[in-house]
Amino acid sequence: MNVIDYLRQHIRTVPDWPSPGVQFRDITPLLQNPRVFRVLIDQFVHRYMAPDLRPDVVAGIDARGFILGAVIAYELNIGFVPIRKKGKLPFATVSEEYELEYGSATVEIHTDAVGPGDTVLLIDDLIATGGTMMAGKRLLEKLGASVVEGAAIVDLPELGGSQMLRESGLPLFTLVDFA
Ligand code: 5GP
Repeated sequence: MNVIDYLRQHIRTVPDWPSPGVQFRDITPLLQNPRVFRVLIDQFVHRYMAPDLRPDVVAGIDARGFILGAVIAYELNIGFVPIRKKGKLPFATVSEEYELEYGSATVEIHTDAVGPGDTVLLIDDLIATGGTMMAGKRLLEKLGASVVEGAAIVDLPELGGSQMLRESGLPLFTLVDFA
């Protein structure tokens, strides 16, 4: 079996969560099994070890992006910074608001998390509409950094987010698609 199918087998689909009609792609089984977790993390580590893609810092998006991003940063021997939901970070922050299906959400980052000229790997677990990752990219750019690539385990291409992000000029790396 190839690596992608192996990973796909360890993503659980939970119907009607968090609301009726939603098929939630649950990545926790990937983390729970140490062999699968290592295979997963190695996909990212090998890619971003390459000199042309190696970032200065990894930025992970609240909350599953923290789990992935921190381990990847540790393995690459670079720093990790969190992009958090509004109101969670204690020091000075910059914010970005973005639209959800119903209403809006805000993400924040510490003002000293990255600086001009820093290259950043932006990571989350999943790309749906792309709104969250786009907001993360804008936050990093507000602080003068540039995002070398956006990465996620799962892409839901039918929602159009990955296409929107690529068209906006953000290269993406995702492992498993679900229709
Ligand atoms: P987007 O902003 O691209 O519409 O939604 C992506 C964000 O919502 C990510 O932060 C992701 O963690 C979360 N998300 C939305 N749907 C799912 C899902 O089916 N599975 C998981 N694991 N996360 C989801």
